[in-house]
Amino acid sequence: MKNYMKISTKKLTKIPLYLARVLDSDNNQIKLEQLRVKEYSKKITSLRGTRIAIIPWSAGLDSTASLLMALESGNRVITVNFNYGQQYWNKERETINKIRQMIFKRYPQALSLWLQHKEVDISWLDKALKKEFPGEWQHIFPMRNFTILMEVMKVIPINNYKYREIWFSCVQGEIPFSGGDKSIVFLTEVARIFSLNKFLLVLPLIGLNKTDIVKWALNKSYRFEIIKETISCFSGKGEKHCGSCLACFNRLVGYYSAAVVKNCGFIPNYNLLKPFIDKYKSAFKKENYYSPSRKNDIFNLIYFLENKNL
Ligand SMILES: [Zn+2]
Repeated sequence: MKNYMKISTKKLTKIPLYLARVLDSDNNQIKLEQLRVKEYSKKITSLRGTRIAIIPWSAGLDSTASLLMALESGNRVITVNFNYGQQYWNKERETINKIRQMIFKRYPQALSLWLQHKEVDISWLDKALKKEFPGEWQHIFPMRNFTILMEVMKVIPINNYKYREIWFSCVQGEIPFSGGDKSIVFLTEVARIFSLNKFLLVLPLIGLNKTDIVKWALNKSYRFEIIKETISCFSGKGEKHCGSCLACFNRLVGYYSAAVVKNCGFIPNYNLLKPFIDKYKSAFKKENYYSPSRKNDIFNLIYFLENKNL
């Protein structure tokens, strides 16, 4: 019987005789059963308290979507954001504070589920690496994700939670087999290191590309209200979104394909985005790891930008 779980006791004003008999019985078997149920429900409750999702959170589109998903599914959450010397650190921090306030307003469950937000300063590392590789790294340093994921493990004392998950927000369609710190080879190695340290690697966005994420947010107005406040820009100066960096271009891809280009945070300008149009056009001529849907979304945006200009 499929519906057996739906039995409700709401309509029972008086305990039926057959049930009263069972409850009063001296039958040890029944007493044991009752004890088992009690223990089981206690265990489930304690299990809930020992499970936690730690999310590296930059107030970007992807990691903010992960955070909302975690809260919506009732996960206890700790967020961590890293000052690794990025030139947009001030903008990122400002956005973090703004979105944090918005989430507490729109997601009442965050009051009990969102346990902590931590800021970790590893900017010394960026300086050291820039000295080592002068002129090479403007926005990020080599193996940034690896560093962040290893640092994230230090946030939680080992014995506090039995089930510790680290949610890494890499999206579908941009994961090469090898090379770089988002590849399958990389993720497999991270999962191995995590499991040695009793962490579980969770990839909540692995089935979604940027367009899917924007569409997911659009399903609920309170989600989109938050998602459209996220920040994706590499530039540290001027407006929240410069509209002329690779991160801005990639943000635009998602917003354009989800038909909400006006909410992407800047007005697209063909001339400013031309370098990335050229970059993707030449990348797609060679063998590449982009998924067909990701490629299609980028081509559609390029078509829009080129024809808007005519
Ligand atoms: Zn930008």
